[in-house]
Amino acid sequence: MVNSIFGGTGTSIFESMSRLAAEVGAINLGQGFPEGLEPDVVIQAAIRALQDGPHQYPPMMGVPALRQAVAENTRRFLGLAVDWEREVLVTSGATEGLTDAFLGLLQPGDEVILFEPAYDSYATIIRRAGAIPVAVRLAPPDWRLPEDRLTAAITPRTKAIVINTPMNPIGKIFDDEELRVLADCLLEHDLVAISDEVYEHLVFDGRRHRTLFALPEVRDRVVRIGSAGKTFSVTGWKVGYVTADARLLAPIARAHQFITFATPPALQTAVAFGLRLDDSYFATLKTDLQSRRDLLVTGLREAGFDVTDVPATYFAIAAIRDLDKDHDDFAFCQRLTREAGVTAVPVSSFYGARDVKTHIRFCFAKQPGTLEEAISRLASWRAWNSRKAAS
Ligand code: PMP
Ligand code: GLN
Repeated sequence: MVNSIFGGTGTSIFESMSRLAAEVGAINLGQGFPEGLEPDVVIQAAIRALQDGPHQYPPMMGVPALRQAVAENTRRFLGLAVDWEREVLVTSGATEGLTDAFLGLLQPGDEVILFEPAYDSYATIIRRAGAIPVAVRLAPPDWRLPEDRLTAAITPRTKAIVINTPMNPIGKIFDDEELRVLADCLLEHDLVAISDEVYEHLVFDGRRHRTLFALPEVRDRVVRIGSAGKTFSVTGWKVGYVTADARLLAPIARAHQFITFATPPALQTAVAFGLRLDDSYFATLKTDLQSRRDLLVTGLREAGFDVTDVPATYFAIAAIRDLDKDHDDFAFCQRLTREAGVTAVPVSSFYGARDVKTHIRFCFAKQPGTLEEAISRLASWRAWNSRKAAS
């Protein structure tokens, strides 16, 4: 017996590439998780919370300290007022928050717009909710929001738009003009936006995070989702938070209460402590990651990879057209893992039809030494390949 939707999906690309990297001892720049950026004070806060307890079910909406800290952080960094009692829900990772939003808000037959390349969990859970994902593609090199294609994709059955900003895997930050277009769409067609903002604190070169939630006329239509995994470099903790107008949040909280009901209280307490760290923590996180980005992007370019600028997130993408004679990014990543000893992920996994095979994604949130070794391996591999091609 198997559900046709889950039965039809394979193992996630992140898991399968991590397994392959471990099997062959490759440097894993595939799955997006950081190395050496975990803040010790937050880990210590978790240890204290585990020692002190409590260890029983926390409130279903999340411990008050964390809901207050989410609201305070939103005010501090975005200047926005949030009612922590009625507008914040704690979930077991952003993945659960997204799932709660899709299951809590969608009806069978509803259509949901998402922008490709899109994070892999969206379409599967939208389908499992009985709804229909409708992909609108962004295109390189500038990945602008295609207003005409967005408008053409909207039908009377469209109920929601999923936006991920900053965007995995391309590092795009939707700008004010694009957010305006999206906001007008929400109003004109009476839609809701699920806004996945897990990389909100990972924006570089002095850029600002921007959110639809900041536009007053659509504030009550936006579900904003964050993740402590990204903000505190602890992806294994799986602590997320959903912020939305109380009426929109209520059905999402109903889904949450039957999916996980709650999230480990000690981790919630530690994340509350983290969100209250002073501005220097958040500034240092950005500059630390920015220097790792510079290291990897420069190194990849010197090694002959065609890499686009990266304004935000953990990820740099490289166009492989000239390197990949087979036009198969998945096979290319497997080959790179085995031959070069460096793992990346194929960007085709972010497309429902798997048909765009022109880019691969590297994660730069690693120790500088790891990145230097990866670059050196990739440069040797490129040189070896060129010799092979010439002979
Ligand atoms: N959304 C995006 C865009 C992601 O890249 C990820 C993965 N890290 C998630 C959601 C999931 O976050 P979490 O680990 O908090 O569930
Ligand atoms: N978000 C991570 C990435 O894009 C993966 C999370 C996961 O493995 N589920 O690499």
